[in-house]
Amino acid sequence: MFEPGAEAMPAEALAGLQEARLRSLVRRLLGTSGVQAERLRATGVTGPEDITLADLPRLPMVAKADLWAAYPYGMVEVPAPDLVAVHGSSGTGGRPTLVAYTRADLALWARMCARALAAAGATRASTIHNAYGYGLFTGGLGIHQGAIELGATVVPVSGGMTARQVTLIRDLRPDILTCTPSYAIRLGEALAAAGAGPGEGLTLRAGLFGAEPWTGQMRARIEELLGLRALDIYGLSEVIGPGVAAECLEAADGLHVNEDHFLVEAVDPETGAPVPDSAPGELVFSTVTREALPLLRYRTGDISALRRGTCACGRTLVRMSKVTGRRDDMLVLRGVNVYPSEVERVLLASPALSPDYLLVVDQRDAAGRLLVCCEYKTAPASGPPPVTRAVPGASQVPGPGELEARLRAELGVSVAVRVLPPGTLPRSEVGKAVRVVRWRDGAPPLPGLD
Ligand SMILES: [Zn+2]
Repeated sequence: MFEPGAEAMPAEALAGLQEARLRSLVRRLLGTSGVQAERLRATGVTGPEDITLADLPRLPMVAKADLWAAYPYGMVEVPAPDLVAVHGSSGTGGRPTLVAYTRADLALWARMCARALAAAGATRASTIHNAYGYGLFTGGLGIHQGAIELGATVVPVSGGMTARQVTLIRDLRPDILTCTPSYAIRLGEALAAAGAGPGEGLTLRAGLFGAEPWTGQMRARIEELLGLRALDIYGLSEVIGPGVAAECLEAADGLHVNEDHFLVEAVDPETGAPVPDSAPGELVFSTVTREALPLLRYRTGDISALRRGTCACGRTLVRMSKVTGRRDDMLVLRGVNVYPSEVERVLLASPALSPDYLLVVDQRDAAGRLLVCCEYKTAPASGPPPVTRAVPGASQVPGPGELEARLRAELGVSVAVRVLPPGTLPRSEVGKAVRVVRWRDGAPPLPGLD
């Protein structure tokens, strides 16, 4: 552990620390004139002494819309000269969501990423191949500073230029890989094609993959391709960036949330009421030690379940399940809620299918139809694959009919499956993979669709 005193803190001591930090956040916010102070006063909170940890669920929330309304710096609570960096995420509405950092914020972020890297087995002796994008996006520079904080050697290769990445991995022999899960697949395929896969001198031992929701099935694919332990890392720029939570090598079963700095709740996405532990809910974070952008109860839109108790690794920090989807990514098909990750789980359970897939929401008529587009890893030797019986696992190469039956059983709603020739689906080298597109009119988003 990078900070065992915090990561393995007994529950009672942790709760005491969290309460003190929550009060200090409330005190700071009440001293400002911002939207968070207004909402606190409207809830009847006049001072930090009014607050215990148990009061957290009744305090007001903030959301991405508040950050957009205050764009660019309206929710920053320190004088401008105290800022040292700005990051953000590409917004779907055109404007990015901007997040500012003080020097202390950057130091905290580096420590959180160092914790995540150490949980993946990285040490001062490690070489970390960092293929997250560098720039406004927090992935690249967050891991970069964490690796330096840990004392490891970081290779700041950023995303893309895959052939160069293969050369660097062969020559520098990194033990840790950090990138998005979709790019890990891309790199694994390129390493195998270059004769540099597992058993051919590949030295990678563990990877920290995040910035996209991904499933256990994707984990198995990545581990097979790269011969490493694939671990999940979670973060969002509004909270600090990557390093909000990460899995440990020992259990690889849920991500330890750094809840000494980021108080976490899971709430019903509709009502905002707390959900019980182990039930999926929308994650809400309070950044109790951030200076530049202190957020009380920030709604993330990410759906996950929380679980408490001491882990096999010794950490006492609450664990969050892999994110199963985003509130905004949820598709509603004839009244049934569908998350792309549920489709991924079904597709990737079949070893014959490539890990690339695309969900096309056909909105050309009001009924709305979902086309699940996937590819076989290799073209069947002769003719189209057989349309086999709808028995899960009955065939090595499931035909579209069998995939449709499996998806209907899992999702509770009918979808159409299109199996396309290998290489048809878009591959992402930089940034996050696109998993859902909408087809409103005009030409199909992929060749061969009707
Ligand atoms: Zn653990």
